[in-house]
Amino acid sequence: MSEASRERPGPGAPSATDLIHHAYQPPAGFGSPAVPVHKGSTVYFDSVAALREHHWLDKQAYTYGLHGTPTTFTLEARLATLEGARHVLLAPSGLAALTTVDMALLASGDTVLLPDNAYHPSKEFARHELAHWGIAHRLYDPMDPASLWAALGADVKLVWLEAPGSVTMEFPDLPALVRTVREAAPQAVVALDYTWGAGLAFSPFDLAGLGGQGVDLTIHALTKYPSGGGDVLMGSIACRDDALYRRLALAHSRLGLGVGANDVELVLRALPSLPLRYAAQDAAGRRVAQWAAGQQPVIRRVLHPAMPGSPGHAQWQASCRAAAGLLTLEFDPAIAADAVDAFVDGLQRFRIGWSWGGPVSLAVPYQAARLRQLGTPYEGVLVRLSIGLEDPDDLIADLAAGLARLAGATRR
Ligand SMILES: *Cc1c(COP(=O)(O)O)cnc(C)c1O
Repeated sequence: MSEASRERPGPGAPSATDLIHHAYQPPAGFGSPAVPVHKGSTVYFDSVAALREHHWLDKQAYTYGLHGTPTTFTLEARLATLEGARHVLLAPSGLAALTTVDMALLASGDTVLLPDNAYHPSKEFARHELAHWGIAHRLYDPMDPASLWAALGADVKLVWLEAPGSVTMEFPDLPALVRTVREAAPQAVVALDYTWGAGLAFSPFDLAGLGGQGVDLTIHALTKYPSGGGDVLMGSIACRDDALYRRLALAHSRLGLGVGANDVELVLRALPSLPLRYAAQDAAGRRVAQWAAGQQPVIRRVLHPAMPGSPGHAQWQASCRAAAGLLTLEFDPAIAADAVDAFVDGLQRFRIGWSWGGPVSLAVPYQAARLRQLGTPYEGVLVRLSIGLEDPDDLIADLAAGLARLAGATRR
């Protein structure tokens, strides 16, 4: 089935047009596509009365640079459009967005649940800072709603979801997980790390098959696709509910989190091309994945939710209209880890480095045995590939040359 003919699950999919034709009033007599970079720590008030009157939670008024400028408010509004949310907060990184949610919603004695395939630094924050503050965490298997059911209780105030999981790319049954939390722990807030979906692949606030229901909030590492340049660190928190927004915004303000106007400008400048870049990286990622699936037995399996046989493929089909340009190669576990490291070292087009969503393709090897605490079905070495904007034929040629070198080295 071609992507164009795939039915779009869930309402509310933002269009490229919505991201470009957004409400913005330039100063009288001047119009250009760019949003001005407004800088200011100090913001002037016309009178003492105005200084006392204006509250920073009121987006109609400016009070202090940390609480927003016309530039940051514009990015917040555009991200709300992209994600189908009402409210957005900006944070200095994706990880800061994630930890802000934890700090805003959890108190001593509470428990937070994390999927075992969560973004690793999120688990580390739970293991260290949250534990120091008397906040417990439990892990669940996101591919088994019964495992989530068993982990839920009256102490659980926050449940994190991630789709797909970090590195191993399992796509969970999001509607089933949300339904499980609503039934077993109605007091818990459901938060999704939406970085992979980038506001485009599915609609977390309006999940297909959940009758207009969805998660309560998302975080998004704008560092990845929205920035698109591999040169900005930024994160966002998005939600629909006014009361939840107030809790998050108050904590965010008390924590003193701000983002620089120049970085915001870079993200604003990249947003109009986000759907085009995401589609191109999706198409290139699937081409590389299909090629890699033919490289058995050296590559035992390709982990990419759009690939049949990848964990959660059926759930991806039910929930998503697209995929990010990310895939993981599961190497034959008989191949030594240092041979796989040498394969990665030898790649020319793929650079070695963290993150994804930028123009340059990246590769990182992971030891499968170290990835999970609840047990793992993966062995040996996994190589996570982030597909950039290069010609996919050049990327495939680079990987093919690497596999030929690997075959030569392991034969000797
Ligand atoms: C990169 C990433 C983050 C963190 O974003 P930073 O801006 O690098 O802090 C969080 N979650 C996921 C899934 C990510 O890929």
